[in-house]
Amino acid sequence: MDSRANPEVTVTGIAASHGIAYGQIFVYLQSDVEVPAYQVEPEKRIDEVARFDRALVVTRQQISKIKNEVEKNLGPEEAAIFDAHLMVLEDEALIGETIREFESTGRNIETCFHKISSRYVQAFAEIDDEYLRERAGDLRDVAQRVLQNLLGQAENSLSRLAEKRIVVATDITPSDSATLDRSAALALVMDAGSKTSHAVIVARSMKIPSVVGLRNLTTRVNDGDWAIVDGYDGLVILNPTESTLFRYGKIQERKKSFEARLMEVNRQPAVTLDGLTVTLQANIERADEVAKAKSFFADGIGLYRTEFLFLNSSRVPPEQEQFLAYKAVIEEMAPKAVVVRTLDLGGDKPLAGKADLFPKENNPFMGFRAIRFCLEHQDIFKDQLRAILRASAFGKARLMFPMISGTEELARAVAVVDECKAELRGLGVAFDESMEIGTMIEIPSAAVTADLLAKQCAFFSIGTNDLIQYLLAIDRVNDRIAHLYEPTHPAVLRTLKQIVDEAHRQKIPVSVCGEMAGDPVYTPLLLGLGVDSLSMSPAWLPSVRYFVRAMTMADARKLAAEALTMSSPKEIYARCDEFYRARVKTD
Ligand code: PEP
Ligand code: MG
Repeated sequence: MDSRANPEVTVTGIAASHGIAYGQIFVYLQSDVEVPAYQVEPEKRIDEVARFDRALVVTRQQISKIKNEVEKNLGPEEAAIFDAHLMVLEDEALIGETIREFESTGRNIETCFHKISSRYVQAFAEIDDEYLRERAGDLRDVAQRVLQNLLGQAENSLSRLAEKRIVVATDITPSDSATLDRSAALALVMDAGSKTSHAVIVARSMKIPSVVGLRNLTTRVNDGDWAIVDGYDGLVILNPTESTLFRYGKIQERKKSFEARLMEVNRQPAVTLDGLTVTLQANIERADEVAKAKSFFADGIGLYRTEFLFLNSSRVPPEQEQFLAYKAVIEEMAPKAVVVRTLDLGGDKPLAGKADLFPKENNPFMGFRAIRFCLEHQDIFKDQLRAILRASAFGKARLMFPMISGTEELARAVAVVDECKAELRGLGVAFDESMEIGTMIEIPSAAVTADLLAKQCAFFSIGTNDLIQYLLAIDRVNDRIAHLYEPTHPAVLRTLKQIVDEAHRQKIPVSVCGEMAGDPVYTPLLLGLGVDSLSMSPAWLPSVRYFVRAMTMADARKLAAEALTMSSPKEIYARCDEFYRARVKTD
C-alpha cells in the first residue's frame, strides 16, 4: 500500500544537521551478534587465545581501512573518531580481563569477551556525562566487530542501500556512519543521539540533514514510508501531504539561497552600517580546526580549549607534545592572536580512566574543575604553562584562566606563570615576555568582583555557558530543566553589563566566548551592552558577520538599553528576534 495514503504525522526531535530531505525511509535495526557458549577442551586453549589475537588484528585492519577512507572523503577531523576505536583494541584492561576470564572458566573466548566488554559498556553507559556515555557507543561498536570476526560473520553496515533513502535507526555507530553509502543516504534520523554524537558530526560534514533524539520513531515507521526530514527545526514529517511538500519545496529553495548569501560576505569585514568594525574570532578545540577558522576569516582564536588535547588522549600529554600542538596553532594564526585557555578539566570533562585525579563528585560542575584542579596539580599546570610560554615565541599568544572566582585565585595562578617564566629565563628558552594574561568571567563571584579582577589582568572573556548556569542555578547539561536556561534573563543582562562597564573603567577589553556569541539573535544585545569582540564556533562566523553588516551600532545600543528595562526573559528574547528578523531576511 502506498504509505502516502496514511495521515500526515509530525514528530519532533533535535535538529542536528541543517538541510531538508524528502524520500522513502530505510529502517536500519542493528541486531546484536548472537554469541554461542561452550566449554573449550584444555588442549585447545592455546589455540583459543590465538583465535582471539587474530580477531583483534583483523578488527584493527578493518577499522584502519575505514579510518583511511573517512580521512580521504571527509578529512582528518572526522577520521579521528576511529582513533578512539583503535584505542579500545589496545585496552589492556579489556583484553587482559577477557583472557583471565577465559583461563579461569574455560568457556569459549566469544563468551568471555562478550561478558567483559558488556560490563564495560554498561559502566560507561551509566556515567552521568555525555562525553563518557558516547564512549560506551565506541566500545559497543568495536566489541560487535570483534565478535563478528570471531564468529566469521560478514560486516554489518549501511553500505548497501539499494536506492536513495532516509536512514532511520535506533542509533548509528561511527563505523556504520563511516561505511554509509554516501550517494544514497538522503538524511540520518535516530531515536537516540545528541548534537555531539559521532553520527551527527559525520552527517554535518556530509552536508546531509539529521534529526536525532526521536525516542521511538523506529517503532512507528516501516521501510518504504515517505517522509520529510527538516534538519532546521528538528522535525520528521511522516506521510507529508501535497501542501506540506509544496511548502517545504519553497523553504528549501529559500534556505539554499540564504546560505549562498551568507557565504558571499564571508570575506567581507564585519562592519556595522554606521561604520563600527566588530572583531569576530573563533573557538577551537583542536589544532586542526585552525584551517576551518581561517576559511571563515576569523580575526584570531578567541578561545582555544586546550583540555581536548588531554581528553583525546588516554594520558596526560607531556610538555613537548603540548608545546608542538600550541605552537602549530599560534604559528598558523600569526600575526593574529590566539587566546590559549589553560586546562578546564573536570565538571563535564573529567579525564577518562583517571579516577585518582578526578574522584567522583556529587556536584562536578561546582567541584574540582579547571583552575582549582590546576592549582592543586601544579606539576600538570606548570607543564602546560611552560608549553604555552614556549609556543608564545612563535606568534601572538594570550593566556587565559578558566573558572576564576576571585582575585586571590587569579594572583596564585599568575604567580605560577611567573615561576615558569623564571625557569625558562634560567634555561635561556625564548618566550613572549609581553604575553597578556586574561581571565574568564564565568562564575558569579568573578562577575561581582569584576572591578577588582580588571585591575589584575589584561582582558576578560565572558563564558556565558557557565555564567548562565551558575547565575540561574540551571545545570547546563540537564535536559529536564533545559527550558529554564535563559540567556535573556534580566539577571544575565545586568551581570553582562556590569562586567563590561567595570572592564572598560579599567580600560581592558571584554569578549564573549560562550555559545551566546555564536547565535546572531544575541549579537546586537551583546554589542549594544558594550562587548568588544565575539568568539564562536567557526561555522557560525558567516551568520554573525552577515547580521553585523546589516545593523547599526546605534540601534544595537538602543536594543540593549531597552532590554535592560524589561523583566521577562521571553519578551526580551522576542524583542531580539524581532530586531533580527527586521534586518535579515532568511527567506
Ligand atoms: C563558557 O563557559 O561559556 C565557555 C566558553 O567555556 P566552556 O564551554 O568550555 O565551559
Ligand atoms: Mg566555561
